[in-house]
Formats: sequence, structure tokens, C-alpha cells
Amino acid sequence: MAQSDVDVDVVVVGAGFAGMYLLHELRKTGFSHRVLEAGDDVGGTWYWNRYPGARCDIATTDYQYSWDPELHEQWQWSEKHAAQPEILRYAQFVAKKHDLYSGIEFNTRVDGAQWNEVAKRWSIHTSTGETITCQHYVMATGCLSVPKEPDIAGTEKFTGNVYVTGRWPHEGVDFTGKRVAVIGTGSSGIQSIPHIAEQAKELVIFQRTPNFSMPAFNGPAPQDRVERLAADRVAYQHEARYSGTGVPLEDSTVSALSVTQEEAFAMLEKAWQKGELLSLGNTFMDSAINRKANDVVAEFMRMKVRSVVKDPEVAELLSPYKHGYGTKRPCMDTGYFETFNKSHVRLVDLNASPIRSITETGIDFGKESMEFDAIVYATGFDAMTGAIVNANITGKNGVTLKNKWEHGPLTYLGLTSVGFPNLYMITGPGSPSVLSNMMVSIEQHVDWIRDTLVYMREQGFETIEPTPLAEEGWRVHCTDCADITIFQEANSWYMGANVPGKPRVMFPYIGGVGRYRMACEEVVNKGFLGFELASSTKKQCNDGLVREVQPDVDMVLDFISTLNLPAMETMTPTEARAFSEASSAMRPSGPEVGEISDGVLPGADGELQYRLYRPATPGPHPIAVYFHGGGWVFGSHTSDDPLCRDLCAQSNTLIVSVNYRHAPEAPFPAAAEDGFAALKWVHANAGALGGIADHIAVAGWSAGGNVAAVTAQMSRDNGGPQISGQLLLCPVTDGSQQHASHKENGERFILTKSLMEWFWNHYATPEQRKSPQASPLLAASLAGLPPTMLVTCQFDPLRDEGNAYARALMQAGVKVEHVEARGHIHTSITMVDMLPSGAPHRREMARALRGFFS
Ligand code: NAP
Repeated sequence: MAQSDVDVDVVVVGAGFAGMYLLHELRKTGFSHRVLEAGDDVGGTWYWNRYPGARCDIATTDYQYSWDPELHEQWQWSEKHAAQPEILRYAQFVAKKHDLYSGIEFNTRVDGAQWNEVAKRWSIHTSTGETITCQHYVMATGCLSVPKEPDIAGTEKFTGNVYVTGRWPHEGVDFTGKRVAVIGTGSSGIQSIPHIAEQAKELVIFQRTPNFSMPAFNGPAPQDRVERLAADRVAYQHEARYSGTGVPLEDSTVSALSVTQEEAFAMLEKAWQKGELLSLGNTFMDSAINRKANDVVAEFMRMKVRSVVKDPEVAELLSPYKHGYGTKRPCMDTGYFETFNKSHVRLVDLNASPIRSITETGIDFGKESMEFDAIVYATGFDAMTGAIVNANITGKNGVTLKNKWEHGPLTYLGLTSVGFPNLYMITGPGSPSVLSNMMVSIEQHVDWIRDTLVYMREQGFETIEPTPLAEEGWRVHCTDCADITIFQEANSWYMGANVPGKPRVMFPYIGGVGRYRMACEEVVNKGFLGFELASSTKKQCNDGLVREVQPDVDMVLDFISTLNLPAMETMTPTEARAFSEASSAMRPSGPEVGEISDGVLPGADGELQYRLYRPATPGPHPIAVYFHGGGWVFGSHTSDDPLCRDLCAQSNTLIVSVNYRHAPEAPFPAAAEDGFAALKWVHANAGALGGIADHIAVAGWSAGGNVAAVTAQMSRDNGGPQISGQLLLCPVTDGSQQHASHKENGERFILTKSLMEWFWNHYATPEQRKSPQASPLLAASLAGLPPTMLVTCQFDPLRDEGNAYARALMQAGVKVEHVEARGHIHTSITMVDMLPSGAPHRREMARALRGFFS
């Protein structure tokens, strides 16, 4: 270890809002510390970003500290969206009030840090030549603090004035009479361009990607927020902390696809008039997850551009088409689009006329060369990871964070990383950070770090480090969250796409501020789940995963739990049927198919209704005889309508959904016999139905999966009809209900252990359950059954009996494709157009169905 000049408990890098608050808390809790800051004042991002027009896009009611209630009385904001000088003054005011200046070393950079595994301490090397050792090392370096290196040829040649928005001269810049080029139209460009246009003689804006921007309509803080905050500050802040974005907003429950465009535009206009960054994205519940829903918002925004910009060609160039609204950080402006109506302002579309080179005197682009007095680079940042990996951090076994993160940042909770004990990142990658009100996220991280340090001190632990399992689980969860959105389609800095060579992953956590906070709380409440805490004499490690259920499924479960619905097993079958029908009526209908028609077919004991879903392509088609879910007690030929449509459309298969008889009126073996009768009838009438007789499969979900599996066995045992495959989604296969998943997943996941018992009690006696026609897993042999696609869900009570059936089929020599749907529950894959995370599994099911007939 390098010779240490001083040893402290904690070293903090950065004196922006995160470092300032942490300093305050370290003093309060009595940890010795050093706080190092590269700049010569507090303020972080608001210290560096002094370009004209720089403003915060989050309203002042929300973008302020909550930890010192006196501040709310002592500091009055002048505007709804504060400008950079005012925010910097606020930071200085807080620093003076709490004597923070005395605890910060300015003009001090950190050149590198190494973990010493023997001493269990970090060695921090500073630009002043000092080496500090410490137990805990905190990077409070901000998410957007390292400007991106200009990746444009010839930048070094230009002899005029060069400005970078993120490193603006403190004394300001006067562009009067100057020919100015601005490269970049993100938030920084969009905010600064109108101001530069006011002064410049000539202004040329080089645009690679047009961005969505709405006017800030700046003025006094919104009255409703001011009043709510004044009425009950604590409640307001609590709401912010558990909200989606760190600003109290009611989540929309309206789908953009459920209203006409006129209605949608009226709703968006209302949101627009608010002049709040989050209002447009929050108008519809599905604009972040559904491309078509997003298009509604995007078109509204394009309409707004057309209404302002006089030249239709320029308006078109300023209108984003290639990315969805919100998938790149949307902007707020004051007069941005109006600027393009000025005669001395020109827009250059770099897609049509790329920059060939910056020259000594200007810019060569397309077929032109232009001379400039000044070039402004508003080209963005090496976001989220730049400041952390550039700080030369070396953890255990000489591994650097830069190397570890070569293929994307790996963190647990965005706070810590395996191999780097006692290293903490405030608003690091894998935390909501830039997708949230930073003030709320900063305070949460500082509180978490403070409480963790206090806990370790009280318990006598020297080190804390996440486990590989927990870190990988968090990576998977972050990816799951991103996967259900359309964010990954955009070449945004959220995805690392703005920096050449940066790995393409979703850097911030997109699961929401409140859900993230709850995950952090759960980790602590479960004895620091996923962390190893250690000292020379003891160790504590409750290894495990904090968020395993798919994020959209989790949201549905949370929503359902707020409804306080009665348990179905407390109802009579008639009540349960009515309840099930009422719930189904609220679902999205599923995709269009060629034709839907209803009919009747002869069952084992009387007529059965069926619904036929015909693909839009010319027939004849292969057929799947489908059996619905509902525990043999409820459901019908129409109750799995969205799933049947989806299967039909995606697999190009004709689906015949059969309404078999239900228990308790028609108990075992009625459903099984009806299933087999329906198969025989469909086979015999395949041609008339528009299908192919020797291309028939059976399919079903839940109890319907049971009926399908039993039907396959009956056709094998009774000389046909020959079937090409069976598609079993979460099937019931074993009436013993002794599998571990019944207990493990017996509560909270919609299908509960007690509801399953209720189903069985209505359908079959304990003795009857031993029959393979009730429990297909108990068949003497499974040999000779058709190729099988079997899907089981991780949080389904029926998971293990489904898994057992898949294994038994394989052992019997049956060709089986077994999908174990991670993070899913019994019902989630059937929830078409509601739960995006189920879509890939439905695609797999459709592919398998097609494959049965090839
Ligand atoms: P940015 O959003 O990354 O925008 C950079 C712009 O430069 C983009 O238009 C980008 O085009 C363009 N660009 C980058 N490299 C280029 C190249 N080689 N040639 C041509 N064009 C190039 O950066 P930013 O505007 O500084 O904003 C970054 C983030 O900081 C914002 O998204 C926001 O989160 C935060 N911010 C907030 C505020 C606020 O709260 N008011 C203000 C400023 C910034 P492409 O899109 O094609 O890559």
C-alpha cells in the first residue's frame, strides 16, 4: 500500500448535491471523512454547465433538498424552472448555512484508487500528491459530468473559439456579431440555441437527430404543487419518494390506443400546457412500452413543430421519426422551434450533409464549406459511467472497474459492485438516476449509504460487498425492466449509443423510483440480502435475489393487491364464474385474425360450443384444438380469447377453442371425455372447417392444459386420431398437489394453493385424482405421445408438476421442448397486450405449434 498521509473512515469524491448532503450526514453520524472536488465551488452539474439558457427541467417545487425543512422557509425560488445561476446560488446557500465549505477540498482531483485486501482499506491518490486511506470510498461524481470527446474529424484544427456546453467559461461568452456553429440538438443545444441566436450574426445548427421538445412555459411554480407542498410537505415528499420518477404524479391508467386521436390530442394538449417535463410521457399508461401508443404522442409533438416552424421543410427536419417519444431524453425549451423562423438561423441536416471535417476556419459538410468565428459543441456526455471508470479504480485482485465494466456496468442496486468492497456509487448505473428527479434519488442513496455505514460500525463489520448471485440477479432484473419498454430501440445515451465503442445496454434502472426504493429497503430488511458483510472475526451473508418476478407482472400483482378482491375459493362456482367473466371483460382483445366464428360440436354427453379462429392467410390450415383454463369450474370457449387470437395470428394455425363441461355440475371425467370427443369431431370435420385432418395438435392452459394432455393420451390409447403435437401451458398434471411449488408459490401469485385445492375438490375425488385421465403424470407410460411444447412458470404453484411432466415425457422418449418462464406466474403468459414480458414466450409457443406440422 502506498504511504498514507492520512486515514479516514470515508472519502467522498464530488461536491455536487450528492457530495454536499453526504458530507452533512457523515458529520452528523460522526465518521471521519475527506470530500474532494475538482471544481473550485460546490454545485456539481450546476457548477460546470453554465451555457446560456441552462435550466433545470424539473420544477423547483421538486428539485430541492428535502433533508433540511428550514430550507423551504429560507429559500424562495423565483421561477418554476430555475436557471443555472439560481440553482448554483441555492447550492452555495446550503453550503454556507451548513458550513459545508469548511469540509470540502476544492481543486482536488482523484487520480486513482486501489483496494488493499489485507488492510481492508482504499488508497486514494489525489492531484495534490496526497494519498489518503479510507475504509469507505464514495463516488458522488454525477451521471453527466464527463463531456463526450468530440468524435468529429479535424476538431483540433479550428483556430476560432471553441466552447463545450458542459464546460462553459465562467465569465460567459458574447456572440454579438459572430458567425456561430452549434453541433448537437440534445437538451444543452436546445436550451442554448435560442440565446445564441439572439446575439449571433449568423447561426448554423448541425443536427444529427431531431429531438422532442416542449415549451417550459416558465413562470411562477405551479400553484397546485405549491399548495400541496405547503399543505403537507412530509406527505408530498413521501409521495415523491415512492413515485415512478421522483415527482408526485398520478400514474395514468389510460391506454393511448383506447381513445381516438382527437381525444388523445386533447389530453396531450392539457399536459402540454402544464409545461412540465413528465406530463406528456405520463398522459398514457403505455407510451413507454407500446410503439403504437408512443406514436400517438410522437405525432402530437410533430404537429406542434409544424404549427410553429414556418418553413415546412425545416419543420419536417426538426420532427423526430426515428425514435419514440421519451426514448431519448425529451427536452424543455424556451423558443427553440421559433428560432428557426429567424432569417439568420440555418438548420443543417447531418444525415443529408455529413460533416466531412472541421477546418482551420470552419466546417466542411456535404458539398459546402462554411466559415465560423466560434463552434459550440453541445455533443453530450460519457454518461453514467464516464466519471466512475475514468477515476482509475482498482478493486480486488488488481481488477479495474474499467475492465470489469468493459461489456457494460455490473452493479448491485446501482450502488455497489462485486470485487470492489466498500465502494459506493451515488446514482450509479443500475439505479433510477437520470430517469428520475435527481434530488430524490441522490437523497435516497445518501441515506442508504449512511445507514449502511452506521450499521456496519454498530455491528463491527469492516467490509461490505455484493455477492455475484445478487449482482447478476440485479443485472437480469434491470434488463427485464428495459426489455418491456421501447427504450432500447433508440440510439440514446441511456443506451450508451452516443459514445463510440461503449457497450449497448440500458444504463439507468427503468423500473421506477418507488419500486427501486422498495427493493433497497427489502435488501436491508432481509439482513442485507445479496451482500456479504465481514470482519476478521465474523461474516454475515444472506445471499439471494431481490427482484425475481418479471417487473410488469409485479406491477399487476401490486395493483391487484390494492383492490382487496375476495378470494375466489370463498365464492360459489356461480359467483366465481361471474367474477371471472367480469375480469375478462376488461382485457385488451388481442390481435386481429382472419375470421372468428362460433359453432357447436358433439361432446361426450351433449353438444359443446366452440369458437374457431381462422388465420388471415389462405387455407387450408393446420388445426389446434384448444382447451381453456379455469380449473375445470369456470371459463368457456371464449374465455381465453386474446391468447387464442395471438396463437392463431402468430402460428398461422386454425384454433378451435372448445367449451368442455364444467365441474361441479359435470365432474371428472366429463372434461377429459369432452376433450377427446372434440378432438375426434374436429379430425373428422377438418376439411369442412378449413383445416388439414392430419395436421392436428392439442393445446391448453392450466386445467385446459390438463385436458389437452389427457386428450393426447386418450387418442394414443384409443387408436387415434393421430395428433402432431401438444402445446401445454402451465398444465395441471398431478392431483396429489404434493410438489414443492404448491407451497413455495402458494400465495400472492393469483393462482393460490387454496384456489387450486378448491378446483380439485369440485372436479375430482381424491381417489379419482389417481387416474391418469385426471393426473396425466400418473400414466403408466408416456411413450408414444406426440412432440410436446411445455411451458412452466417460475412462480406458479403448478410449476413443479409441469416440470415433472416434461421430464417424464423426455424419459419416455417423447420429443419435448420445455420452456421455464423466468419470473412469470400462472396467468401472466395469457395476458396478451397487457404484459409485454409474456410476449417472447407466446412467440416461442407459436413457433413450436407451427413446428409440429412441418
Ligand atoms: P445529448 O442529449 O447527448 O445531446 C447531444 C447532441 O449532440 C445530440 O443531438 C447528438 O446527436 C449530437 N451529437 C453528438 N455527437 C455528435 C457528432 N459526432 N456529430 C453530430 N452530432 C453529434 O447531450 P446534452 O444535450 O448535453 O444533454 C445530455 C443530458 O444532460 C440530457 O439528456 C439531460 O439528461 C441532461 N441535461 C439536462 C438539462 C436540464 O435539466 N435542463 C439540460 C442539459 C442537459 P444524436 O442524438 O444523433 O446522438
